[in-house]
Parts: sequence; C-alpha cells; structure tokens
Amino acid sequence: MRIAIFGSGYVGLVTGACLADGGHHVTCIDVDRTRVDMLRSGGCPIWEPGLEDMIRANTAQGRLNFTDDAAEGLRDARVAFIAVGTPQSPDGSADLTYVDAVARDIGRLTENRLLIANKSTVPVGTAARVQDIVDDALSHRENRPTITVCSNPEFLKEGAAIQDFKHSERIVIGTSCPEDEQTMRDVYKPLNWQHEKILAMDVPSAELTKYAANAMLATKISFMNEIATIAEATGADVEKIRVGIGSDSRIGYPFLYAGAGYGGSCFPKDVAALAHTARTTGCQPRILDAVDAVNVTQKASLFRKLARAVPSLEGATVAVWGLAFKPKTDDVREAPSLDLVRSLIEAGANVRAYDPVAMETFRAALGRQADRVVFTGGNLDALTGADALAICTEWEEFRMFDPDRLASRMRGRVIVDGRNLYDPSRVAEGGFHYISVGRREAE
Ligand code: NAD
Repeated sequence: MRIAIFGSGYVGLVTGACLADGGHHVTCIDVDRTRVDMLRSGGCPIWEPGLEDMIRANTAQGRLNFTDDAAEGLRDARVAFIAVGTPQSPDGSADLTYVDAVARDIGRLTENRLLIANKSTVPVGTAARVQDIVDDALSHRENRPTITVCSNPEFLKEGAAIQDFKHSERIVIGTSCPEDEQTMRDVYKPLNWQHEKILAMDVPSAELTKYAANAMLATKISFMNEIATIAEATGADVEKIRVGIGSDSRIGYPFLYAGAGYGGSCFPKDVAALAHTARTTGCQPRILDAVDAVNVTQKASLFRKLARAVPSLEGATVAVWGLAFKPKTDDVREAPSLDLVRSLIEAGANVRAYDPVAMETFRAALGRQADRVVFTGGNLDALTGADALAICTEWEEFRMFDPDRLASRMRGRVIVDGRNLYDPSRVAEGGFHYISVGRREAE
C-alpha cells in the first residue's frame, strides 16, 4: 500500500520507518526543508535507538522517501497519516494549527480516494474538524475524490519507539466506517499477525483514549511524588514504599518512580489539554489540576534542594548530569533540567552540563541563556571545580557511584539526585552530602 505521512518528527519517522519495514511504500512529508534534506542524505534529525539504520535500510530498498512537496507525497497514497505537533496553547488547549494546515493541503491536493488517519494527539472532535476542513477545500475543486478521516492515536515511548510501534500492546482505531476499519487493518497487517492487537472503537472514544492513557501515567508519577514529599517530611523511604505497594498486583510496579517531575513533549501538554476539554464541556478536572500542580512543585524541587545545600549559589559552580527528559532520547521538551538550569543561571551560578545525546537540543531550547552554560565532553569533565552535582536524568553511565573520582574533580561535596540513583548510606560514607527524592538526607 502507498502511504503518506505528514510530519517527520518522533512519531512520523518511527511510523514511516516501521510501516516501510513491513513492506509498505511510504513517503514522509515535512515542511522543514532542512529536515527533509538531512533525511534524504541518510541522516536522522532525531536521536532514537535503531531509527537511523531502519530509515537507511528502507530508503535503500526504495520503500521510504522524503519530500517537502505535499502533492508529491500524496500521489497514489491510499492512507495519509497526520503526525504533526499539537503543542500547548496559552489557555492549555491543544494548538491545532499544524493539523489544520495538513487538512487544507490534503483537501487541496489529493487526487484519489484517501483515508486520513490522525496519529497526532488531538482533542475529541478533531477528526470531524479535519473532515470539515477537507470538505471545504474539496468544495472549491472540480475533482472531488472521496476523503474520509479516522483516529489512530499513537502510544509509543521515545527511547523505545521502534519496539513499541512494532510490538505495541494495542492499536486503537477510531472509525464508524467498516471500509475504513478494514483499510487500517491492512495498514497494520505486518504488525498485527501474531495475535489481535487492534481495538476498533468510535472516533470520540479513540481520541479520548490517548489523553486518558497519558493522564493516568502522569497521575501515577505525581502521586508518587506526593508520597515522596510526605516521606521526606516523616522520615520514610519512598523506594521502600514503591516496592511495598508495587508488589500488590492491583497496583503493579511500572511508573511508580518518584523523581524530578515529569517532562517531555506529551504528559504536560496532554494533561493540560484534557483539563481544558473537561472545563469547556462543563466538567471539573479536579484530579488533572492536582496532577499538574504537584508536577510544577516537583520540577522546582531540585533547585530548592540545591539552594538549601549550597547557601550562596551566586558564583558557585553546579554540574548538571542529564538534560534529556528521560534516558535514551535527545528530547528536552519540558525537561526538569530546563527549569533547574534556568533557575541556576538566574541565581548567578556557573553551570557545567553534560548529557550523552541531548546537549544540542538543550542548547537550542535554552536559547540565548545557553551562552551561560559550559557543555562538557563527558560526565567527569562537568564535575571540574563543581560545588555541587545535580542529577536530572537516569542515564546508565551515571548509575555507578565512585566517590574518589567525584571527589578528585569537585570542589564541594553536595549531590542533589532527582532520580534516586545511589544508596544514601554509601554516598554518605564516601564523604558527600546526598539529597535525593523521598528519602532521608545523608551526610
Ligand atoms: P515533532 O515536533 O517531533 O514533529 C512534528 C513534525 O511535523 C516536525 O518535523 C514539523 O516540521 C512537521 N510539520 C509541522 N507542520 C507540518 C505540515 N503542515 N506538513 C508536514 N509536516 C509538518 O512531534 P512528535 O513528537 O512526533 O509528535 C507528533 C504528535 O504525536 C503530537 O500530537 C504528539 O502529542 C503525538 N505523540 C507524540 C509522542 C512522542 O513520544 N513524541 C508519542 C505519542 C504521540
């Protein structure tokens, strides 16, 4: 099948590469010419394990192409995925500017029968909105091919995106049209052959399922962060509590980690967008508001802890390990490290930062303030002359505590750990003042 994909970001590229790998002929369309040129020349604009190789292999087989020309991408396509960004608007709602623009292009340029599959995370009613925009564009044309819209939200995780896409636990398809459902089953045939993963449902339920999933995961994180705050105040240990409750099969272990607050391109905006949907439909999003409020406080907690442990941050040097919002990605959108580094710069501290893959994206996200940060070639370099070390991301290379190596480079002896990587008693034995999340401080 010929497939067009609008948006060559984390979702669009993974979808395109995996569907091409499954034998489809895929053209990825993006408005960013630089991105398209890079992809055409064998590069990959994002860091996602295994993606570059998969893109290269499928491009070489002629099953995967890239263009910035929507008409070219749509030529003979049977299905067009929308996988463009849906960032947060100032009022919390999902900004549908990019989705609308794709719908207009499709309505203007499509020549044949087409099914639009909306993979971007969008509020209930967006499939109908896309259909209206397409129909309006078609009404100005002589050739009016049949174009319909279904919802096909994406559940992949950055860092494990290919595995998640190819071996997903479920494929949600929202449509009330049996023919469109069958077309989507054909699209996913290469990935749906060992056991049935497709959950077909009505469009509003499919659109809301994605928000409900992300809101549930964000709720688990904020819940554990609240328990961590109570543990800090009472002398309990959140890591012991995590195991204590995770062992209950009704609760389970995943997503019970207290930390520096959730970030990334999805949870913060999706919680806000769902709360906005609730408010505009007369519902009170009491849990969602609390989840967000806890997260805002949690993201500020690393700086608060540092400011307490290093009384004069002005002129002090702070090493920051980990900039990505989680390991195995270069994505820094809404990352706790951004809040921390901005606060440190405002406090007059010198920041020495290191991340294995996210330094360029972090530099871009920080903008002009990036001039105030020294980006180092390795994690040990970042420690040179540091009064304190702050850990924001649990990359594997940070997980071994080596007091001698730290002490030989650092000036101070403070570690603020937003990921609970180390055993507090061992860090204290190593001569450090260790402040983690939801556990007693150790020195
Ligand atoms: P992204 O920002 O990485 O990529 C979006 C791409 O769309 C960019 O390359 C941009 O240039 C391109 N684009 C914008 N307007 C366009 C247009 N008119 N035509 C063609 N291309 C256009 O975004 P992402 O992280 O891949 O997310 C895309 C959507 O998927 C969002 O709604 C997001 O919430 C959702 N989602 C993301 C993830 C994730 O982990 N990143 C997971 C599931 C769902």
